[in-house]
Amino acid sequence: MRGVVPFAACLFSVAVLVTASVCTHTAFAATRGDGACHSRAVAELQRHSPHGYAIYQAMHDKNLFLTWVTCDDIQTELSTAVHESVHILTEEKDAYPLVDGGSIPRPHEVSHFFPPREIAGGLNADDAYVQNYLGPNGASSKSDFMYLLDELNAYSHDLETAITLVPLQRHDLQIDRRDGLAALMSFVMRYVDKAEKTQPATWRGLHDPEPRTTIRVLWSQAEKTLAASCGLPEFGMHDRDYVAYICDKKNADALGDLLGHAPACPAACLAPDTASSTPAH
Ligand SMILES: [Zn+2]
Repeated sequence: MRGVVPFAACLFSVAVLVTASVCTHTAFAATRGDGACHSRAVAELQRHSPHGYAIYQAMHDKNLFLTWVTCDDIQTELSTAVHESVHILTEEKDAYPLVDGGSIPRPHEVSHFFPPREIAGGLNADDAYVQNYLGPNGASSKSDFMYLLDELNAYSHDLETAITLVPLQRHDLQIDRRDGLAALMSFVMRYVDKAEKTQPATWRGLHDPEPRTTIRVLWSQAEKTLAASCGLPEFGMHDRDYVAYICDKKNADALGDLLGHAPACPAACLAPDTASSTPAH
């Protein structure tokens, strides 16, 4: 899993004006080390984001966390560092760390469910999130629902960190922190919907206690985090299509059955005066 992580981070977690080539630079710069930058970054994280700092503290290898930090765009870089560290901690502990503390065990039985790549059929093949989480060259999430849930969780941590670090936001960059969580929420909803319609074994399995509880917890966390970001300017670029999908009741029914209640629609993220998003296209 770690092997694919930096790739995902470079593509999705860096402000839009920063090109993928800068990711190479980022890794280089971090390897070279920047003590003053890293000290400042950790202090800012501790000051603004107790949750993000807890993830930093949980990491045995602090230098690995700081690989993603060069202090060029500290809000984005720390959010990425937390996201990638959540993946590492998840592998180490065989459990998803939660934003509010604690963790929930990974439900290994979901690895036997139908592969998430099968939901890519009706989606835009040019969409970067589709390519990288569901596409043929994508991350482990394309073939194993347990890793799709891992991404859902990591993007909740990612966005939550970005929200707390708003005081450090660079306003000369359009950031896309909400896009990732909105995309992964729509993928999970689509997966459950397809299970209900065409995958009876997976649909039955999703209702077993452990998968169901895990999805309830991770979805609730994602819902809360996404909603908290809706009023923030310059926080999304392509999130409206994903949010619109989540808010469409016919897409949400199957997940609602699993959750025991209808998923909440983060309607504020679709409000016309939300300056943070581009119109749906
Ligand atoms: Zn990830």
